[in-house]
Amino acid sequence: MIKPQILKVAIPSVPFFKLFEYLVPEDCPNGDFQAGIRLEVPFGKSSKIGFLIATSTKSDYPIEKLKSIIRFIDDTPLLAEIDLKLLHWVANYYHHPIGEVMSAAFPVALRQGKEAIIKKLPKIDDNEIKTSQLVCNEGQQNAVDLIHASLDKFNVFLLDGVTGSGKTEVYMQLIQIVLNRGQQVLVLVPEITLTPQLQQRFQARFSTHIAISHSKLTDLQRKNAWLLMQSVGCSLLLGTRSALFTPLPNIGLIILDEEHDSSFKQQEGFRFSARDVAVMRGKLVNIPVVLGSATPSLESLYNVKQQRYQHLPLPERAGNALPPLVQIIDICRKKLQEGLSERLIAEIQTVLKKNEQVLLFLNRRGFAPTLICHDCSWVARCIHCDANLVVHRNKNLLRCHHCGTEHCLISSCPMCLSKELTSLGLGTERLESILNRLFPNKTVLRLDYDSVQKKGALEDFLAQIHAGSVDIILGTQLLAKGHHFPNVTLVAILDVDSGLFSTDFHSGEKLAQLIVQVSGRAGREKKQGKVLLQTRQPTHILLTELLRAGYAKFAKLELAERETAMLPPFSYQALLRAHAEKEELPAQFLQAVAELAKSFNSEQVQILGAIPAPMARRAGQYRFQLLFQHTNRSALHHLLKQLIPQIGTLKLAAKVHWSIDVDPVDLF
Ligand code: ADP
Ligand code: ZN
Ligand code: ZN
Repeated sequence: MIKPQILKVAIPSVPFFKLFEYLVPEDCPNGDFQAGIRLEVPFGKSSKIGFLIATSTKSDYPIEKLKSIIRFIDDTPLLAEIDLKLLHWVANYYHHPIGEVMSAAFPVALRQGKEAIIKKLPKIDDNEIKTSQLVCNEGQQNAVDLIHASLDKFNVFLLDGVTGSGKTEVYMQLIQIVLNRGQQVLVLVPEITLTPQLQQRFQARFSTHIAISHSKLTDLQRKNAWLLMQSVGCSLLLGTRSALFTPLPNIGLIILDEEHDSSFKQQEGFRFSARDVAVMRGKLVNIPVVLGSATPSLESLYNVKQQRYQHLPLPERAGNALPPLVQIIDICRKKLQEGLSERLIAEIQTVLKKNEQVLLFLNRRGFAPTLICHDCSWVARCIHCDANLVVHRNKNLLRCHHCGTEHCLISSCPMCLSKELTSLGLGTERLESILNRLFPNKTVLRLDYDSVQKKGALEDFLAQIHAGSVDIILGTQLLAKGHHFPNVTLVAILDVDSGLFSTDFHSGEKLAQLIVQVSGRAGREKKQGKVLLQTRQPTHILLTELLRAGYAKFAKLELAERETAMLPPFSYQALLRAHAEKEELPAQFLQAVAELAKSFNSEQVQILGAIPAPMARRAGQYRFQLLFQHTNRSALHHLLKQLIPQIGTLKLAAKVHWSIDVDPVDLF
């Protein structure tokens, strides 16, 4: 008798590490079923779409208990062997179920089992006149030549160039070379908002169709982009971190711009670093990976020092643009008008008189971060989180920025009924209103998460800025990244201090990156820009060193500190988070995990905790964490490999939500 073939299937969204076993339906001849094909399987009372991982003739279960699959969706796998290899590596490294990892590689429509065909092919408009390449300066030429010479082998290049130094020009020249060889290029950016401008520049340069992939597109658009990259004729894919796993049968180069940006790290569910996985993909396929940034991450700089990455500096701005002038404004004991110092107001005035643009950076949305009673000191708190409610005047709301809870804005204190409620602190809405009052003849544009909610709003705003119909741009994080505003000559960061006093050891690095990135928005073309930093800590070493000696020197100092403290990149970490509605459960659960871990811990991985998360309660959940740390990466992973699959056997595991974060970049 022929033994029946058993299909081992990974099913996403099922929180188990195991594979599920099924039989081939009787009317379907036993054959050579390839790993990676999608199939529909019965699951509980309904069905699910899964991925074939392997076939076997053996099962741990009695064969008669196994069910048959419902149908095969694909004849041949949509993923090549090399793609599967990458996904297996990723599942292994991040200790995440393979089904979930495979699912992340597919656009939603294909995950749902839709047919893998494109109904409408894009028209490629080849008649447009394309812009020609610029003549490279020495640094750019050196970078292009070195990467060009290395095209058929794995190598990581860190293109370390100040804002405006012509990194994008280097990318474009390399892309052209790779396209001419008939190969494909994957370009990743951290933010959706950065795709349109890069897409435009690419479109003006290359006569190939450019596929775009990010989470704001429709399912159909994403499916089409995904499938298009598998057909001949489409060679350039531009996207955010979710585009990373798109199969590219003929890939020749990976470029990852703004490599320091923490948006490359997925912060929920399957927590992977698109930067690190991109490097692994380059290694598996044997092609170069280019990481670009004006403020490289300490990890990448450390990899340069260890001679794992090749450093390609572009120290000067391309063309004639001068570097901006950066100055500190000490606001200690100074009179402020809604957060603005007199000096800053005067500087804004001067710039506006010349009809140039001003950009103000404040990383806090809403009108004010705190509502307090002047009489009894009552503070509006979120009942679900350890957080204050933020005052939103425009919408007449009090809102929690952590769980989304909203209340109507009240006019009297719920404790003492006093009418003296005071909005404390400064948010972008409040800043907008003072700017309108101070400069009544000028146009102020507020650019933050709240103001760009409407579809197309951001594009509209950016167009207005470029058209010069805006005088003062004020915004949050959204503004810090990659945008090019040629007429902005003054940039001010209003509240540097909130970044100086954080408990997360990454905060110094992040603040320095933010200051340099925001500064990079100033004076990018003919006019020299000025950058002003308002602070109550004018002698803080981070600020003085950064200003005196620049980012590279700062990074060196910061790396030395990390080394002394044995923090990453000098050690490796994994963070196990747990949360539950009942206060005692997460701590008890993590204690049990720590005990279990000790039984596998032959290599003395440090196990720290369980301790409450920095925000111990959020959205009604109590949150705790357990940190694993070791100077040797494989020792850490050896422990995790044994521990993680066993966690499910703990009694408390079913009563809490838990997740593992390998190489966490945010300890919250
Ligand atoms: P980055 O990506 O490093 O911010 P870009 O590639 O966008 O820099 O270049 C900044 C500006 O300098 C752009 O306007 C670009 O056209 C110009 N530029 C880049 N390289 C050169 C060059 N070799 N000669 C003249 N101008 C250049
Ligand atoms: Zn009161
Ligand atoms: Zn809340």
